[in-house]
Amino acid sequence: MSKVISISNHKGGVGKTTSAINIGAGLNLLKKKVLLIDLDPQANLTQSLGLTNEAINIYGALRGEYKLQPIEIFKGLDVIPSTLDLSGAEVELSSEPGREYILKELIEPLRASYDFIIIDSPPSLGLLTINSFTASDEILIPLQAQYLALQGLAKLVEVVDKIKQRLNKGLKVGGVFITQYDSRKVLNRDVVDTIQSHFKDEVFKTKIRDNIALAEAPSQGLDIFRYSSKSNGAEDYLALSKEVLKRSK
Ligand code: ATP
Ligand code: MG
Repeated sequence: MSKVISISNHKGGVGKTTSAINIGAGLNLLKKKVLLIDLDPQANLTQSLGLTNEAINIYGALRGEYKLQPIEIFKGLDVIPSTLDLSGAEVELSSEPGREYILKELIEPLRASYDFIIIDSPPSLGLLTINSFTASDEILIPLQAQYLALQGLAKLVEVVDKIKQRLNKGLKVGGVFITQYDSRKVLNRDVVDTIQSHFKDEVFKTKIRDNIALAEAPSQGLDIFRYSSKSNGAEDYLALSKEVLKRSK
């Protein structure tokens, strides 16, 4: 049985997309079959893997036009692309009966084919994110090692609690991890201390360091392992993927 994971934080630019791609690719490197779902109208994950304007995408599937049709980008690593049109979905689907369950229903027939299904969520707590949480077994939260990293997080926790109560009893926060970490900065170290005292065991041991290769890889349509296998980014995301795998057992 596969595990469905949402990478989510409604704060923008904290490393959700980078993490969805590279945890997905890391798990794939560890011999797992992975499906990445781009649920963000910005379509950054889609573009970062070299896809553009795919005619069959998450938007049409959510509108009920067709089923999810994964595209294989590397062996054992498939993608459901997004499109800028997805920005209309929040409003268009708002009066649909069972609107919170649309993604869950679409994913259900695919679960048996994958070890991990990873959903890249948009930086908001609207209907798309609610669909992502309703369809997921767990949520992983990236936190940027910066001042105010925890600000607004209470809202996310509140939404997760409501989804647990009303829509998806089995949902849990699988953990938080730190991204864009620079050990030379005192502020970064202070923020990590705050995060650790707040989340305790929920914090993954691996910190994703600030690493330029992680920002460059998308321009080549590659994950970090194919772009620069010896980079700190590759080392960190492999370590994090191993932790995700271990925790999922
Ligand atoms: P959004 O909320 O807009 O969806 P996001 O949370 O998905 O953003 P990313 O797009 O993954 O965040 O990252 C934001 C920017 O920071 C990108 O340009 C990305 O390449 C860069 N970035 C992410 N992680 C790192 C890192 N560890 N080191 C250096 N750059 C990084
Ligand atoms: Mg993103």
